[in-house]
Amino acid sequence: MSTPIVQLEDFKKTYQSGDIQVHAVRGVNLTVQAGEFIAVMGASGSGKSTLMNTVGCLDRPSGGRFMLDGVDVSKLDRDQLADLRNQKIGFVFQGFHLLARTSALENCELPMLYARPSKSASAQKARAMKSLEQVGLGQRFDHTPNQLSGGQQQRVAIARALVNDPKLLLADEPTGNLDSQTSIEIMGIFQQLNDAGMTIMMVTHELDVASYAKRMVVMRDGRIVRDEQVGPRHNAAEELGKLTREQAAVNLAP
Ligand code: ADP
Ligand code: MG
Repeated sequence: MSTPIVQLEDFKKTYQSGDIQVHAVRGVNLTVQAGEFIAVMGASGSGKSTLMNTVGCLDRPSGGRFMLDGVDVSKLDRDQLADLRNQKIGFVFQGFHLLARTSALENCELPMLYARPSKSASAQKARAMKSLEQVGLGQRFDHTPNQLSGGQQQRVAIARALVNDPKLLLADEPTGNLDSQTSIEIMGIFQQLNDAGMTIMMVTHELDVASYAKRMVVMRDGRIVRDEQVGPRHNAAEELGKLTREQAAVNLAP
């Protein structure tokens, strides 16, 4: 059995909010193996982002244990945690978080500036270009975010998340700002990456979007209340083909 990418054991997170303690996550066990594609669902306030922020090494558990790719995160100081995050994790957010007035290519080069060992400038550019080509945006490498559609901006953000060859891609509501067809396109990219071996954990509140994952985890009040393999999963490439054919049929109708 290979080392799990994520291992959470009785993970707890409590926030201090003035005099009040908020128990955001109340004891979660979760193991994620390489090659999984997981959708995390649950109502607002159920603890999804808290879980993702911990798995993404942006925050530390208040209780229990978190191992990332075999490394016990509780033993690391802030700098070591930041290094581990940069090395192992790619992030995609609802709001894309791209730098304005900065080309797609330069946006993708950013995470490599902090990477160790560092690459030469030309190697960074080549890696960023390869990443943009992977998401189908090679032609638009010199476009700035305001010259790109929302779906294209999210694809740049995915390309950026891939440049340090992460072990795990984390996405918090990646389709939250996108229409349904564009959402399927983004799920198509996730499925393609997952088929090529990338491990993906994605938060979504949309069942449609979750149905492209292989496994579904549902949270309620800081606990996992459901965890199961879903399937047969929807295939984004097939769905898009169907949509295009329907569109063509509508256009051809007298
Ligand atoms: P979700 O992403 O499922 O909406 P969150 O993980 O954001 O849920 O939040 C879980 C609970 O923790 C909520 O009650 C939220 O108000 C609380 N919470 C989240 N972050 C903080 C924080 N930094 N300080 C205090 N409470 C927080
Ligand atoms: Mg959230």
